[in-house]
Amino acid sequence: MKRILSIAILLSLITSSYTQNSEPDPIGPINPTLSISEDQFLNNQAEALLEHVNMVLSKHQPSWPEEADRRSALLLLDAVLHDVYAPLRPPVHVFFKTRIKKAVDEIEQTEIESGARIWKLYNHGFLIRTRSVTIGFDLVRGKSVNIEGFSIGDDDMSRIIDQCDVLFISHIHDDHAEEWVAQSFIDQGKPVVAPTGMWIDRPVYAHITHLERESHIEQILQVQGGQQELKVVIYPGHQGVDIDNNVTLVYTPEGISFSQMGDQANDDDFEWIDEVANNHVVDVLMPNCWTSDIVRVAKGFDPEVIITGHENEMGHTIDHREPYWLTYQRRKGSESFGGSGEEGYDNPLILMTWGESYYYNRE
Ligand SMILES: [Zn+2]
Repeated sequence: MKRILSIAILLSLITSSYTQNSEPDPIGPINPTLSISEDQFLNNQAEALLEHVNMVLSKHQPSWPEEADRRSALLLLDAVLHDVYAPLRPPVHVFFKTRIKKAVDEIEQTEIESGARIWKLYNHGFLIRTRSVTIGFDLVRGKSVNIEGFSIGDDDMSRIIDQCDVLFISHIHDDHAEEWVAQSFIDQGKPVVAPTGMWIDRPVYAHITHLERESHIEQILQVQGGQQELKVVIYPGHQGVDIDNNVTLVYTPEGISFSQMGDQANDDDFEWIDEVANNHVVDVLMPNCWTSDIVRVAKGFDPEVIITGHENEMGHTIDHREPYWLTYQRRKGSESFGGSGEEGYDNPLILMTWGESYYYNRE
């Protein structure tokens, strides 16, 4: 019996060293190639460095031009989060959850007179509030990471949902879409807009709003039980060839416009991307940081501000976890990072981490 048990432990250790994000043996090191004391050292180091990141970011709020201290903190965050085992490390869980909790408190207490406040939540999730409406994009708890300790609790996510009037989902992948979240919106009588066909075999499908995926054409979406109206354009984007990805452009009742791009990545779509600014005025663009040729995307939308999303998605292996340093490289248009190799983009770039917010006012 004892022998069988030790074989089982050995097997689980071997498995955990090869499987991304599998839960570790609770009594062994998180990284099975390290001794217990080496592994504990990395937990302690993560805790110390993340504490420093929190301190610097709290003193240097998102702004443009970006302060050097702030940039250093984001780069330090890249280093901590690109430990292969970072999604399993308790200090990373605490860092993530504490920041989200703080954001939820802020959201509940924030009223806007003019302009907009934009919170970055997990991955490509944003919550935007103006004087009259609150809009959610790709809100998820982080279940894509598949680690129990690393996800937004149901109670916190429910509080976020309570604060929103509408949810726009770009596409089906679980780092952007969660049926539980969508169903919660629907249970509250709030619209959920998603691509046609997404979750077609699920009961929730009949309650989802499917707007036309048509370039530049404004459609009306009622929110708050018809008390407010949004003008919405759903650009027919794609991730690769097969996956429909809604690139949503929303005008709030105040006339401020926001576009979130989901996992946009398809060169044929430059046909409409190149023409967005000739048809619409875009205040804030929220592209996936790794979208194909972000310099050309910036030129096509020509927004007042760019806030990239999707950095450090902890469910991805480190080579696709998308660090901040790559977002800075891509801004320069560097060819080896998907740019044209000619020049970068000049639009202000606001980089934020989980739970941070930025106040935008056109004036
Ligand atoms: Zn994604």
